[in-house]
Amino acid sequence: MTPLYEGKSKRLWATDNPQTLRMEFKDDATAFNGEKKESFENKGRFNNAISTLIYGMLEKQGVPTHFVREIDEVNVEVKKVEILLVEVIVRNVAAGSFCKRTGMKEGHVFSQPIVEFSYKDDALGDPLINDDYIREMKLATPEELVFLRSSALKVNELLGEIFAKCGLRLIDFKLEYGRLASDPSVLVLADEISPDSCRLWDIKTGERMDKDRFRRDLGNFMEAYEEVLGRMKGLS
Ligand code: C5P
Repeated sequence: MTPLYEGKSKRLWATDNPQTLRMEFKDDATAFNGEKKESFENKGRFNNAISTLIYGMLEKQGVPTHFVREIDEVNVEVKKVEILLVEVIVRNVAAGSFCKRTGMKEGHVFSQPIVEFSYKDDALGDPLINDDYIREMKLATPEELVFLRSSALKVNELLGEIFAKCGLRLIDFKLEYGRLASDPSVLVLADEISPDSCRLWDIKTGERMDKDRFRRDLGNFMEAYEEVLGRMKGLS
């Protein structure tokens, strides 16, 4: 069998149901648009478990997502969607590409969250775009764009609360959305939400508990993910 799609950290497979897919979490970690790549035992398992817990909590709070059910340790069943080619990034604290772009010091706390969009295109390196680009490139309708912004801010509030209960500060994160195959007028949260896609700093120690450990060679990469999972399990 060949997957319908293979990305840097996931594979998508067909299921018996034409409206759903199986999403498999791989053990691969990549950074800097795939330039740095390494495989880590259990990474897929940790990210699946963390993402599944988060999706369950978001659904409970009324956020529509692609999540259907957990199949096993590295596989979930998800609703089939057409992924929007817009990545939505929300930032609470200056870090990563924001600091590179602006020269602002890492750790500066924003007066209110910053919502940012990037064009999902590996060949171009997912460049930063704005509402006008999205309109002209027809990446989302004006109504979808309004929804993306308000949904991402709502998710920021909910994720911030969830992670705070785990002793973690939500610095920033990336979301992806898709139009349901069964009803393209409905946008749902898709892809994964994990320490691969969120920056999480330990509230007490400031320690990085996310993919920056891999990006910056800080060591104890999987130990941090296991710790995040352990704290999240303590919530439910
Ligand atoms: O690199 P940058 O600072 O723009 O990343 C902001 C947030 O979005 C980080 O939490 C990062 O992990 C996430 N991100 C991602 N996938 C991308 C780009 C950013 O998960 N392609």
